[in-house]
Amino acid sequence: METIIISRLTQRTFIDDISPMATTDIPSSVNTSSWHELAESVLNGHQVTKEEAEAILRSHDDELLDLMAAAFKIRKKHFGKTVQLYFLMNAKSGLCPEDCSYCSQSKVSDAEIPKYNILSRANLMEGAKIAAEKNAKTYCIVISARGPSEREMKAVETIVPEIKAEHDLKICACLGLLDDEQAARLKAAGVDRVNHNLNTSESHYGEICSTHTYKDRMDTLHSVRNAGMEICSGGIIGMGEQDSDVVDMALSLREVQAESIPLNFLNAIDGTPLEGIDTLTPQYCLKALAMYRFVNPDKELRIAGGREIHLGSLQALGLYAANSLFVGDYLTTQGQAPEEDYRMIEELGFEVTRNID
Ligand code: SF4
Repeated sequence: METIIISRLTQRTFIDDISPMATTDIPSSVNTSSWHELAESVLNGHQVTKEEAEAILRSHDDELLDLMAAAFKIRKKHFGKTVQLYFLMNAKSGLCPEDCSYCSQSKVSDAEIPKYNILSRANLMEGAKIAAEKNAKTYCIVISARGPSEREMKAVETIVPEIKAEHDLKICACLGLLDDEQAARLKAAGVDRVNHNLNTSESHYGEICSTHTYKDRMDTLHSVRNAGMEICSGGIIGMGEQDSDVVDMALSLREVQAESIPLNFLNAIDGTPLEGIDTLTPQYCLKALAMYRFVNPDKELRIAGGREIHLGSLQALGLYAANSLFVGDYLTTQGQAPEEDYRMIEELGFEVTRNID
């Protein structure tokens, strides 16, 4: 097994001239001798440190296969070769009063997207049917909002029991900021999980949004947990953050014990404030996925939006660290055809699972 020399870990290959990412050297206290040894120590209960996580992000591209193989050891222990599929329904699009700079649905976006209020019962039921047909384990009901209105809360409370009566699906609701009472109502309605992404680190949050805070988002995660639901929370990489921000978010998600972590790679949509930003390489995206697996060894890790654009032909490699994908389209952008995902999974020798635990 090849030994990784620390000096080689300091070589950073993904940055380009306009990248705002950090270029500082890896601290000398990082003493991992190989990714496989680090994986073994994680399997024995070691919690990856911030320095080790940053070393993963800054590792040389030549180490990538070794890194992914090491991440796979961890993934395999907890998830075998299974892949969980998620199906998204954009249940309310656009019209959001918030100013999240990456989002095509925000009040500061000029992106040409469909705009509509919460979908009818029939549309939501149809989405659930499609999710089941596509072999998804989880149906994600997503609305664009700072937080749900009473009408939107009632719509979700009404539809969730109906969906569960007809389909063997887990329900994840993504409704924006929630207080304790709203979270308790969703739990009572049968919602299994709430998605609310941290999106980036606490220190970078002010750069991407001014209408709510990182703390607001964290408070929502605590309300979800207090209500007894699972937490789905992840973020977006490629928004001008530094490596340390990418790591800080991974560590925060470990702290809140998020059961499910969707990792998006910025698809800088025309008309959004982040239009034109493109700092990611496929190699960096894979290192980020590997790092999230090392930091959150037994959590669902999902390759989310932007995978087709940023990972390209290397998407399959990402599944050596991640164990989950969205199948079908994203909120306002297209995903690749589900048949291509199924083929990729099969050709890898992996299998789709619908086990609902
Ligand atoms: S709150 Fe959600 S829908 Fe609204 S702008 Fe932010 S990310 Fe987009």
